[in-house]
Amino acid sequence: MAEINNFIKTIMQNDLDSGRVKEIITRFPPEPNAYLHIGHARAIITNFELAKAFNGKTNLRFDDTNPAKEDQEFVDGIINDLAWLGYKPDKILYGSDYFEKTYEKAILLIKKGLAYVDDLSQEEMSKYRGTLTEPGINSPYRNRTVEENLELFAQMRAGKFAEGEKTLRAKIDMAHPNINMRDPAMYRILHIKHHRQGNKWCIYPMYDFAHPLQDSFEGVTHSLCSLEYDNHRILYDWFIEKCEMEHVPHQYEFGRLNITNTIMSKRYLRALVDAKKVSGYDDPRMPTLCGLRRRGFTPDSIRNFILATGLSRVNSTVDSEQLDEELRNDLKLKTLRPNAVINPLKVIIDNYPSGQVEYLSCPNNAENPELGERKIAFSKEVYIEKDDFIEQKPNKKWKRLALGVEVRLMHAYFITATSVEKDANGNVILVHATYDPSTKSGSGFDGRKPNGNIHFVEATTAIPTEFRLFEPLMVDETEENKDLDFMQRLNPNSLSIHNGYAEESLKNTKPLDHYQFIRNGYYTTDIDSTSDKLVFNRTCGLKSSFKL
Ligand code: ATP
Ligand code: MG
Repeated sequence: MAEINNFIKTIMQNDLDSGRVKEIITRFPPEPNAYLHIGHARAIITNFELAKAFNGKTNLRFDDTNPAKEDQEFVDGIINDLAWLGYKPDKILYGSDYFEKTYEKAILLIKKGLAYVDDLSQEEMSKYRGTLTEPGINSPYRNRTVEENLELFAQMRAGKFAEGEKTLRAKIDMAHPNINMRDPAMYRILHIKHHRQGNKWCIYPMYDFAHPLQDSFEGVTHSLCSLEYDNHRILYDWFIEKCEMEHVPHQYEFGRLNITNTIMSKRYLRALVDAKKVSGYDDPRMPTLCGLRRRGFTPDSIRNFILATGLSRVNSTVDSEQLDEELRNDLKLKTLRPNAVINPLKVIIDNYPSGQVEYLSCPNNAENPELGERKIAFSKEVYIEKDDFIEQKPNKKWKRLALGVEVRLMHAYFITATSVEKDANGNVILVHATYDPSTKSGSGFDGRKPNGNIHFVEATTAIPTEFRLFEPLMVDETEENKDLDFMQRLNPNSLSIHNGYAEESLKNTKPLDHYQFIRNGYYTTDIDSTSDKLVFNRTCGLKSSFKL
């Protein structure tokens, strides 16, 4: 696995060398309001791998200070996803566990004349805030006495006011060039039950106030976040200083990860689930970690993808193909390579004895002999891919089966197609062929060269199988569709189901088993799979394969 190397690592090394910190402590702070997606993987891997590089520690801290959309389901999902990725947090912590301590720090700021209770409404506050070019205006409630503020804040906590009626704000500078410093809100009233605190609180701290304090309480040394918090750092430092925090954490920002054709915002992912455009957060088309897992991506492929894409202070967009490439690199030598036919066409070998099934040796992975061999069935009736047959060989490049043309059925015999049967619409539904017994694979036959090698599945032992193939959930942005709502840019072909057959060795497959289906792609067993009907999700194609 690649080693993590980026600008934050250099900062950490310098901080250790200069003695600013004794050890590295990071945290991954998701809000438990959705499942994690591949963008979060950048934050997770960065935090954990950097701490690991210095024998430091990483906590998982749920940033659960906004009860509106938070839920235990997401807490459990996030813990599970992290474990699947292979990371064990030093501690699992909850921002809400610090509500009392955070409240005390708010009291300290009020006492120091650095916070006040404001009666302005949300709209008035944003009007008073000013713009990038114009300073803001002081709230008429800004000069309340310390006593009055303490009294009102206590009443806020006691539930005396309705939502929006009062807000606790930091008293900084309404003319500050950085708008985040213009008396930012510290606490708002929300009469909402919290998933861990129940109805204990009806005031909840804002992210900008709560986050630095949480980092400090936990001894976090390097608080890493994405770039949009760049101009909040000044406020982060202000709260740490004015709250007289003993431990001083520092914030560092990195660029967000975007992936082509991939929607990554939680808001959109939730909308897709709510509108039932996907089967759930773990739909294999979703960029969630649970979706990618079900699709067949491995923890190593995700980790190597994140490390290979690097880290800088710019948001980056990476081609989704790169993740596929990491998956292939990871599984190429590790997976079994069974035979499966996703669009079956039956071939009857007329000169093969009726009622006979023979078993032939076949390597489990032609590139890795360590995976051993298995026996595959062969008989008078086999399935091949529809695309591997054409009536008339069109040109020299056609290296598959055609009438009068001989091919090798991989690990079995040479066959020659002799005639076809068609349905009323003229589609070929059956191919008749003959085989040459002297061409048995492994028999040392060194005669004529066949017109290609194609795979097959023996018909009487084949297991009916559903293959789920995917395309991106969204169609590419173009000039015409760029203004459309994202729901209207959904790709109608994002899921296609093919009913075919898999060889009998797959009958005991279990969810999340990985395979490379010969000449097709990487697949993983879906949770919907049963022994009577297997279901596989296609993770990605084979780079070098022809398009089916
Ligand atoms: P979204 O924008 O999708 O709603 P978020 O940033 O609000 O995500 P959090 O739960 O707050 O979600 O994220 C936890 C951490 O993951 C944060 O530090 C955030 O910066 C980081 N993160 C989220 N998405 C990405 C991304 N695409 N690239 C890098 N880091 C990300
Ligand atoms: Mg966030």
